[in-house]
Amino acid sequence: MPELPEVETMRRGILPLLGGRITAVERLPCPRRPLTIAPRGEKFARLQTGQTIDEIERLGKRIVLRLSNELAVVIEPRMTGLVLLADPPSRDHLRICWRIRGAAAKAMWFWDRRGLGVVRVVDAKQFDRYYGPHKIGPDALAIDAAAFVERLQASRRAIKVALLDQRALAGVGNLYAAEICHLARVHPATRCDRIRADEWTRLHGATLEILADAVRNEGSTLGDGTYRNVLNQHGSYQNSHRVYDRKGEICTSCGQTEIIRIVQTQRATFFCPACQPKSRRLVASVTSTTLPAKNRATQDKSSPKSAGGKKRVASRRSEGV
Ligand SMILES: [Zn+2]
Repeated sequence: MPELPEVETMRRGILPLLGGRITAVERLPCPRRPLTIAPRGEKFARLQTGQTIDEIERLGKRIVLRLSNELAVVIEPRMTGLVLLADPPSRDHLRICWRIRGAAAKAMWFWDRRGLGVVRVVDAKQFDRYYGPHKIGPDALAIDAAAFVERLQASRRAIKVALLDQRALAGVGNLYAAEICHLARVHPATRCDRIRADEWTRLHGATLEILADAVRNEGSTLGDGTYRNVLNQHGSYQNSHRVYDRKGEICTSCGQTEIIRIVQTQRATFFCPACQPKSRRLVASVTSTTLPAKNRATQDKSSPKSAGGKKRVASRRSEGV
């Protein structure tokens, strides 16, 4: 969190800044963990000040401001970052303020409770190094069926784990991956290389449908209330969640089976065992991670890595989902 729908909501929300000139970039004092900012020091503000915001794009779970000096400001909210035009949830966690002239909005803030966010000002070469196609795959809202299958099917990883790999497909995180598997009626631990053609078709369709629907609903504001749109208002897609964080509730699709929770590569996965039945095609380690909560922490550490487990740890660090 935030994933593609939340970041796309932020992007659309800050479109009133388009064409505006950045008159100042202020780093606000925050006693909490500092953000990762590049370049450090005064150069961060100097590179942006006086420049016009020509384009506002989204790259997976990041916002990209294209400036008139050909530099890009890449804002990565990671766990608790928010981009705001008004009314921050608290003053404590405001980190950066951009002052803008000549646009419909006069300022933009970056707010981050945990401080895991990253904001970088980069030139074209650096952009390619950090965010090129070798790092970030095609956007999950734009990818066609053939590319979707091609990028995922060779993997021996579980489908829900593979959907989180930003190099394969950009934008899907832990919440929406579970929702996609449920709508597609595919068990989240099914090995990618054993998924059938009809299931791929459903997975691709479910990815587009879930993400587009979540964007229409301005994303999901979970129980911790952290995620808000740029005007500090809740999203509403949490009311449509099919399985995420609904352990023990009855599945709304089949109307009779309880949603269960398992752990895959140290992340919680929710699914309906009736709508997403087990088959022989599962990644073997999934059964060993279905444990009562009190044993789960020990199990996660001691269990052998599932297929792709090592890579997953590395990519979690870089994507911060
Ligand atoms: Zn069901």
